[in-house]
Amino acid sequence: MLFEKQTFLVAGLSRSGIASAEFLRARGATVFLYDDVDSETVQDARKRLEVLGCTSFSKEELERSAAQCDCLVLSPGIPIDHPLALSFRRAKKRILGEAELGALALRCPAVGITGTNGKTTTVTMLESILKEAGKNAVSCGNVGKPITSCLEELGESGVAVAEISSFQLETLTSFRPHVAIVLNVTEDHLNRHYTLENYIYLKSRILKNCTESEYAVLNYDDPVVRSFAERTKAHIVWFSAFERVEGGYLAEGYFYFQGERVCAEEELSIGGEHNRMNALAAICAAKLFGVENTAIAAALKNFRGVKHRLQRIGEIGGVTFIDDSKATNVDSAVKAIKSVRGESVLLLGGKDKGYSYEPLFDELKNSGIVQAVIYGENAFRILNAAVKCGFTAITLVRPFDMAVRVAYMLAKKGQSVLLSPASASFDCFKSYEERGDRFAQLFEEFCAESAFEVAAVSEESKGKLSARAEELFEE
Ligand code: ADP
Repeated sequence: MLFEKQTFLVAGLSRSGIASAEFLRARGATVFLYDDVDSETVQDARKRLEVLGCTSFSKEELERSAAQCDCLVLSPGIPIDHPLALSFRRAKKRILGEAELGALALRCPAVGITGTNGKTTTVTMLESILKEAGKNAVSCGNVGKPITSCLEELGESGVAVAEISSFQLETLTSFRPHVAIVLNVTEDHLNRHYTLENYIYLKSRILKNCTESEYAVLNYDDPVVRSFAERTKAHIVWFSAFERVEGGYLAEGYFYFQGERVCAEEELSIGGEHNRMNALAAICAAKLFGVENTAIAAALKNFRGVKHRLQRIGEIGGVTFIDDSKATNVDSAVKAIKSVRGESVLLLGGKDKGYSYEPLFDELKNSGIVQAVIYGENAFRILNAAVKCGFTAITLVRPFDMAVRVAYMLAKKGQSVLLSPASASFDCFKSYEERGDRFAQLFEEFCAESAFEVAAVSEESKGKLSARAEELFEE
């Protein structure tokens, strides 16, 4: 693509929009900018990019943008049926995303990782394995580092380990990863993609350009992912927790690849069957890049997991707090519930994404969840599902801070408070990170209160204690 001859409108000035504008200006393209939010962060981005020679469009100018520009660079946060995108489509102009620009410019092999859950964990794990083997691997894409900003670091000899979301797949057409991994496909983002069929189709697009020279690493245990084998020319490498497939599998407490023992399952430092599946996918990709088993074992041993994914925050009075704020759909919360040992009080709720919560309550009935505390914008939809499924150990409390406090009060010694909300965070937080951080902050506050109470009791100053209790109640 001859960037310098073309005019681009970059819509959405967050991380990927900024990276796209910088990338395009560095290649001499004419770049216009637009964002309908006028926050301080957007203003700062705008100023920085204007210094590089970009020009901002006003809302009024936007109407003419499809006539004036050759291409629209759409941020993953903006849906493909947004009026701006539709105007470009009607004008038969190209619509692409930052990942597409990255894919067009990459000079090294890439691993593309998609799926409903486990992308970031697998990307990070695979990056560690490849680095352990001495390769210049860089995790990028949806994991938070735009592909276009890693091009120099990667050069020709690196390996781009790219997390690719369904939002990115809407505008990604040229990507041809050397290894494409599809982890799983379960209901998610129906508020954006409308139907499960559409969402499944988007996920399958990661395999679209692969030929016999590329590899598709597919989850044999997931019927949707298994069906993707029929949609690609790529060489199929399966992974499975139950079957001795052509590829990676679990047997006798070991990870296997093509009939060869790679390492013991216990080398993997993070728990949960879902993480063993993530590890299997990462192992398959690593073996396709020729990595030795010793490097794989060492990397799995040192892998500490990723923040906000089943992260143990700490313990007060025998109650353990676990932050799984990134569980933003039903399947990820189910996996968390299955992975946490013993009994827990579960915190559920947030912004709705249009799917059913009934499969979650079917799972909860035979689990270690002793009580579900629900909060958030979708609390009543969740409550309805609980009632339909006959799950009665439920408390509805709002707002979030109070829900966490109630969950803590309900949890007995030896139990956990598990934040695995099965919902997006945007009803009252900027991101799942902010929600997880608030959970950890509340834990710290409870620790401080509990230290205060212990001190107060030991001084026999009961008056002070009840005054503090009243104060807390008012909060
Ligand atoms: P993603 O990047 O796809 O959102 P993450 O690795 O960030 O995935 O994990 C998100 C959530 O999904 C976490 O709460 C985690 O416990 C859960 N999870 C991780 N791997 C899997 C998996 N293979 N299947 C189902 N759930 C998973």
